[in-house]
Amino acid sequence: MNAALSQTLIAAEEVSKEFLIPQGMWRRLTGQPRLAVHALNGVSFQINRGETLGIVGESGCGKSTLARCLVRLFDCDDGRVRFEGQDIADLKGADRRAFNRRVQMIFQDPYSSLNPRMRVREILGEALSVHKMRPRAQIPARIAELLDLVRLPSDAADKFPHEFSGGQRQRIGIARALAVEPDVLVADELVSALDVSVQAQVVNLLLQLQEKLHLTVVFVAHDLRLVRHISHRVAVMYLGKIVEIGPTEGLFSSPRHPYTKALLDAAPELDPTKRNRTVAARGELPSPINLPTGCLFNTRCPRAFDRCFVERPLLSDRTPAHRAACHLTDFGAPSLQNLEAIS
Ligand code: SF4
Repeated sequence: MNAALSQTLIAAEEVSKEFLIPQGMWRRLTGQPRLAVHALNGVSFQINRGETLGIVGESGCGKSTLARCLVRLFDCDDGRVRFEGQDIADLKGADRRAFNRRVQMIFQDPYSSLNPRMRVREILGEALSVHKMRPRAQIPARIAELLDLVRLPSDAADKFPHEFSGGQRQRIGIARALAVEPDVLVADELVSALDVSVQAQVVNLLLQLQEKLHLTVVFVAHDLRLVRHISHRVAVMYLGKIVEIGPTEGLFSSPRHPYTKALLDAAPELDPTKRNRTVAARGELPSPINLPTGCLFNTRCPRAFDRCFVERPLLSDRTPAHRAACHLTDFGAPSLQNLEAIS
């Protein structure tokens, strides 16, 4: 794999992914084309080395599919994902194994990914052995280090997954990912199945590990509070596209896309003093089988105008650090708030 000199560690370039729907008898007999769920529709962004990028959006917006494309659990139908400049679809042999080690995914439900018949010592030992991370004699000491890293007591090594709480099992999942000394952690809804108080503990642990180990983290979640807490930058997804991406505080304080604003309005506890009671996202999420023509958000956007129904907006290059895909803000309005102030 090429050595990387640039800050960009991972780059998604126009990534698209669809899933064919099983065809019913009637459609087959009448020769109608197969239907597909358009899960990702040309997603482009970059992740810099050592940063945490939050990916947020409603359920069904494609964020989990994107996470799986980043670790190559799914292959893209179109576009590519580059890791240190190299298309991950081209990686073979030792390069593929190195990628699999360096980019680790942590799942929402660690219980289903932890072998219930293995003690934690065996789970972590297996990860260390498969990738030859330590000589056999050093594995017990490394297991103790990993448990300490995720704040589990050393006697946890002798227990089975079912003997732990949900939050503790997530810590085991994190320890297993860290065992292979990755550069990147992709956390897909890491804490959404946990109680709120436990969520905060696990997210704070991830925050500390990211700083301590200089990890690059992709944090996929639907909870805006958690994403704001942990992320340096945030990408907002809608119907398989990124509609806004920018530094966390800028995006939360001055959203540039009406959908981001709708998400923030739907989470009033984020900042009660600036609560806006207007419901910006009316109606239902359109089907990802039949995507709207033009802007994907036009069926729900309170600001939609003629152009929005014929032309799909691109992420604006006008302000490279904080980009939105909206015809309104591409006119040059620095944020939706400013736009409202002058309209
Ligand atoms: Fe709304 Fe039009 Fe902007 Fe889409 S492009 S978010 S429909 S104003």
